[in-house]
Amino acid sequence: MTTIIPVPSNTPELNVSPRLLLGPGPSTVDPRILRAQTTPLLGHLDPWFIELMDHTQELLRYAFQTENRFTIPISGTGSAAMEAAVANMVEPGDGVLVCASGYFGLRLADMAQRYRGNVKIITCPWGQVFKEEEVSEALKSHPSKVVCIVHAETSTGAKQPLDQIISIAHAAGAIVIVDAVTSLGGIPLFVDRQDIDVCYSGSQKCLSCPPGMSPITLGERAVEKLTARKTSVPNWYLDLKVVQQYWGKERTYHHTAPISNVYGFYEALRIVAEEGLENRWQRHRKNAELFWNGLTEINLSCHVEEKYRLESLTTVRVPENVEEPIVRSLLLNEYNIEVGGGLGELKGKVWRVGLMGYSSRRENIILLLAALKEILKN
Ligand SMILES: *Cc1c(COP(=O)(O)O)cnc(C)c1O
Repeated sequence: MTTIIPVPSNTPELNVSPRLLLGPGPSTVDPRILRAQTTPLLGHLDPWFIELMDHTQELLRYAFQTENRFTIPISGTGSAAMEAAVANMVEPGDGVLVCASGYFGLRLADMAQRYRGNVKIITCPWGQVFKEEEVSEALKSHPSKVVCIVHAETSTGAKQPLDQIISIAHAAGAIVIVDAVTSLGGIPLFVDRQDIDVCYSGSQKCLSCPPGMSPITLGERAVEKLTARKTSVPNWYLDLKVVQQYWGKERTYHHTAPISNVYGFYEALRIVAEEGLENRWQRHRKNAELFWNGLTEINLSCHVEEKYRLESLTTVRVPENVEEPIVRSLLLNEYNIEVGGGLGELKGKVWRVGLMGYSSRRENIILLLAALKEILKN
C-alpha cells in the first residue's frame, strides 16, 4: 500500500483587504501594471518578447538618465541587483569602502564581505548623511577599488548628496556603486551626468510595480573592471557577463525571464515616461511637502532635518508615551493603511511613511493625516 500525504485543510481563497500601501515598499501598484501582468505568456525567446526586452531597456535608460548599453532588469528583488553589483565589482582582496548611513548600507557591507572584499565600513548617525571629508579621509586610510553608497536610505529617510563623493572616489581610483532603490522614478537621479559607475534599483518602490524585477546599469569604468576580472564571478545566477548575453545581441539562454514580471515592469516604465521624469519628481516633492506640513499641524515631527529629508520616504518621530506598534496596527486594521516601523537603531522610535510612485497622491496624505489625528487624538 502506498500512502499519500493528505491534502492540507484550511487553505482559504485569496481575498485580501484593499490596503493602502504607504510603507517602505511595496507601494500601491498602478492598476495598469496589474493588468499588464495578466497578458498571456509568450516564450522567452519569442520574437515579440525579444522586442519587448529591447523596448524595456530603452525605457530603463530614460528612467536612469543614461546611455549605458549595459542597462537591464535583473530577475529578482532589489537585493538581487544589489548582490549583482557587489558580486561583479568586488574581487577577492579588493579594497571596498562602504558608506553605511543605515540598514541598507550595512547590507551592502555584508555582501562585500561575503565576496571577500577587504571592507572598511564608515557609519553616521541614522537620519544623517555623509560629508565628503569623511569619505576622503576613509579613502586615505583604506585605499579602495569600490565605494558603495545609498542614495535614498529607506531605513532612515535621509537623502545622501552624491556628486562630491563620486568625484572624490573617482580621483582616488575607485568606482562607485549607488543604491537607488528608493530614488529611481521618485527623486532626481542622473546616472550619466552624475557619473555613477553602477546604479541599481527595485521595481516596488517609486516605480509602483510588484516586487520581482530590479534594474541595474553599468558605465564604462564598471564594464572595464568587469572585463578585467581575474576570477570568475562566484555567483552563477547574477554573473552579469552571462546575463548580458541574454539581454544583449546574442540572446543566449541563461535563465527563463519571468515573463509576467517583465510585462509589468515594462508598463511601469511606460507610465514613468508618459508622466515625464521632471513631472514625477515634482509630484513627489509637492506631496512630501504637503505631508510634512500636515504632520506639524498634528504636532508630529520628522526625524531628518529638512535639507536631507527624502521625499519618497519620511521617518516620523513617535511621540513620548505612544506605543509605536499599536498605532501601526490600528492604522492597518481600522483604516486599511500600511506604514512601516523603524529598523535597527530607529526601532520603536519612528514610523516610516512611503509616498512612492502611485502612492504619492494628495488624497492618500489627507487620509493618513486624518487617521493619525484620530488615533493620537492630536
Ligand atoms: C528595499 C530596499 C532594498 C532591497 O530591496 P528588496 O526588493 O527588498 O530586495 C535595497 N536598498 C534600499 C535602499 C531599499 O529601500
